[in-house]
Amino acid sequence: MNEFVETLLDLTWHEPKKSYDVVIIGAGGHGLATAWNLATKHGITNVAVLEANYIGSGNTGRNTTIIRANYGIPESVRFYQRSLDLYRALEGETGCSIVHSTKGLLWLAHTESGMRAERARALMNQACGAETVMITPEEALELCPQLDLSGGGRYPVLGASYHPGGATARHDRVVWAYAQGAMRQGVHVVPHTPVVGLLRDGERVVGVQTSSGPISAGVVLSAVGGRVTTVAAMADLRLPIRTHPLQALVTNAYAPGFGPIVASSELLCYVSQTGRGQMLMGAEFDSQPSYSMQSSYEFLQTVSTRMIHMLPFLRNLRILRQWAGICDISPDYSPIMGFTGVEGLLITTGWGTWGFKAIPAGGEAMAELIATGVTPKLIAAFGLSRFAADHAMADQGSAGTR
Ligand SMILES: Cc1cc2nc3c(=O)[nH]c(=O)nc-3n(C[C@H](O)[C@H](O)[C@H](O)COP(=O)(O)OP(=O)(O)OC[C@H]3O[C@@H](n4cnc5c(N)ncnc54)[C@H](O)[C@@H]3O)c2cc1C
Repeated sequence: MNEFVETLLDLTWHEPKKSYDVVIIGAGGHGLATAWNLATKHGITNVAVLEANYIGSGNTGRNTTIIRANYGIPESVRFYQRSLDLYRALEGETGCSIVHSTKGLLWLAHTESGMRAERARALMNQACGAETVMITPEEALELCPQLDLSGGGRYPVLGASYHPGGATARHDRVVWAYAQGAMRQGVHVVPHTPVVGLLRDGERVVGVQTSSGPISAGVVLSAVGGRVTTVAAMADLRLPIRTHPLQALVTNAYAPGFGPIVASSELLCYVSQTGRGQMLMGAEFDSQPSYSMQSSYEFLQTVSTRMIHMLPFLRNLRILRQWAGICDISPDYSPIMGFTGVEGLLITTGWGTWGFKAIPAGGEAMAELIATGVTPKLIAAFGLSRFAADHAMADQGSAGTR
């Protein structure tokens, strides 16, 4: 975060105290939303959010800002629909603009099997409370006149599922809204303070070791994105998570008014237009697990080629920037939230390539769990114990880019 932004926001930084009721590791969207919910909904304000770098420096400040609820299994549809609804209300609740914009999301199908997948998605969504309908190629063209329905002759558009609630919001503003709201309630958000170890009393986690000394805590929540296995290892805990880089790019500005978010799970890529008119694109995560945040020429080449099949006008734009984040991918492409089996240590992870849209509902649920000790029904299916119980929440198709 630069000094200019700090002058616009009401952020009061504190030196960390020796002890808190709750210590949250990681000031990304999930850590800060949990802190904000603890303070505003449960009156728990003796909370510290410790961040290794600047706030929002992880995936939350690097994502392509897409918010949607058109998932493939009932538990996910309900969870993400809750988040979609909370996002709509967030500006009113925090008093901060997050530049939220409902654009609608078109998910194109290019083959008969793609059509079957999109029909199944639409039916599942309707049954579980999210709005998604099948539309014809002509209806897709009405929503997005820039589409080439022949798909460059190779990927014809046979139809699409349409999710009118699909939206975007500025990722950095979401971080600041939660940080400012939590700090106003007395939460300490402490940047540039990496957690380097966990304090133990027998088996129980009783605090954290930081670069500026030990801090004791009633409860420790790990919300560290792609770094989660390193934090879990501090408690001798092995998580079923792999960290993979995920890349994105943005072009120069195109004429304003590119309407919906456009995605294709057969071409494994998606695009939307930013408030400044730039075209923002993403694709699948890098296949090689790594902590590298290097972006690659291969990504540029692959994503641009695929996109031009759907939207030929893109070939006349210039790529301004590309970047990468590191994502915490679970074996079933679903999040892992709640108890870890190590007393005093909770996790919110497995957010992979899809966790920005989950921030409001994830923060709400984790705060309730910490405040009451009871796992909220909405996230009960997403516990770590599901892997030992052989009850994975297989939702790979919903990741959108896998
Ligand atoms: C290129 C890209 C595009 C994406 N597009 C979308 C999208 O369109 N829609 C969507 O829903 N999701 C998207 N995602 C995924 C989404 O951004 C993430 O799932 C989400 O931001 C995760 O939030 P988080 O708070 O869990 O983690 P993060 O935002 O990564 O925050 C974790 C924080 O923990 C800090 N940290 C790590 N280790 C320590 C430590 N030891 N001590 C203290 N702090 C530590 C990090 O510095 C970081 O700031 C995308 C991700 C990327 C990379």
